[in-house]
Amino acid sequence: MMQTYQGGCHCGRVRFKFTADLDGITECNCSICTKKGIWHLIVSQEQFELLGGKDDLTTYTFNTGVAPHTFCKHCGMHPFYVPRSDPDKIDVNARCLDDFDINTITPKPFDGANWEDSMKKDVPWR
Ligand SMILES: [Zn+2]
Repeated sequence: MMQTYQGGCHCGRVRFKFTADLDGITECNCSICTKKGIWHLIVSQEQFELLGGKDDLTTYTFNTGVAPHTFCKHCGMHPFYVPRSDPDKIDVNARCLDDFDINTITPKPFDGANWEDSMKKDVPWR
């Protein structure tokens, strides 16, 4: 069911809201997602609104540097970023939603570790 949710980083400087169906949450097995423990929820630019913290965000890039991995430079949380798989969309970290009970959701697996091989492209996030 499509609903509007709010979320943010841990210190509260970065705040956002978006409209999506939480059934779309996936868990990726690539190196960076495994270490972060991020749960992905990909939404369109129209479904997403940054409410605050634009100047508190910084980015980490690796490999070819195509995907900016955005995080809060104060608390280190990674509330959302622009995914290389959908560069015109926003990948929200569902774990950063307000009052989110992770026990109510079973994310669908996403095989990001082998994405590179299947796409035959030189792109990051591995
Ligand atoms: Zn923060």
